Amino acid sequence: MTLVPLPAFADNYIWMLQDGRHAIVVDPGQAPPVFDALERHGLQLAAILVTHHHADHTGGVAALRDATGAKVFGPASETVPQPCIPLKQGDTAEVLGLRFEVIDIPGHTAGHIAFFLPAGDHGEPIVFCGDTLFSGGCGRLFEGTPAQMLSSLDALARLPGDTRVCCGHEYTLSNLKFAAAVEPGNTELARYRAACEARRARGEPTLPSQLDTETRINPFLRSREASVQQAVLAHARLSAKADEVDVFAALRQWKNDFR
Ligand SMILES: [Zn+2]
Repeated sequence: MTLVPLPAFADNYIWMLQDGRHAIVVDPGQAPPVFDALERHGLQLAAILVTHHHADHTGGVAALRDATGAKVFGPASETVPQPCIPLKQGDTAEVLGLRFEVIDIPGHTAGHIAFFLPAGDHGEPIVFCGDTLFSGGCGRLFEGTPAQMLSSLDALARLPGDTRVCCGHEYTLSNLKFAAAVEPGNTELARYRAACEARRARGEPTLPSQLDTETRINPFLRSREASVQQAVLAHARLSAKADEVDVFAALRQWKNDFR
């Protein structure tokens, strides 16, 4: 099983898992990059996984399903192209002998889900987390609350440390610029940022990232760390009585306003 990101639009990734004969794609916002990859490698599309309803993650679903007969799996509580097998927390999706575990991760959208594949013949664990966790950042709160997003990120952070994090966008460099403003003293963050800049300069994706790395460099997974808390309290002029959700909300707002 190989895992590759197919670039789409300006900065989306459509993730593809393929075994040389069959493929699974995640969040195909466009059909052409997937048709190209299927043709180039001689693959048949077995399934489409959808993390949330946004058009840049679902726009290619109908054309791909109609052309290939692939099964579509998506969030039970969102409006996604039908027919779709509805999934929620605790459900599993079985395709090509792989068993994906579904985790509810509301915040970016109200019914956003993640697909987690435990370690196996394909190697380290993999999580497809859509627009919830990015490398160095997290998604905007379009439909959920800061408390929901914090709890969703906590759920992702509980996955094994060697989990490969497959996000929906190549936002890493701009996220790391913000992360460095929050934690200027984080030397691992500085090293990771330099490595990502070099990758982008070579035209390579920075993803997948690794969960262990994210817990050390991503301020949105580190909002309870003293260094991040102090930076947020000072920036947002919060009182020392602010709770963890207040701090997380102010951190997300700081990122929204950051240029
Ligand atoms: Zn989205």
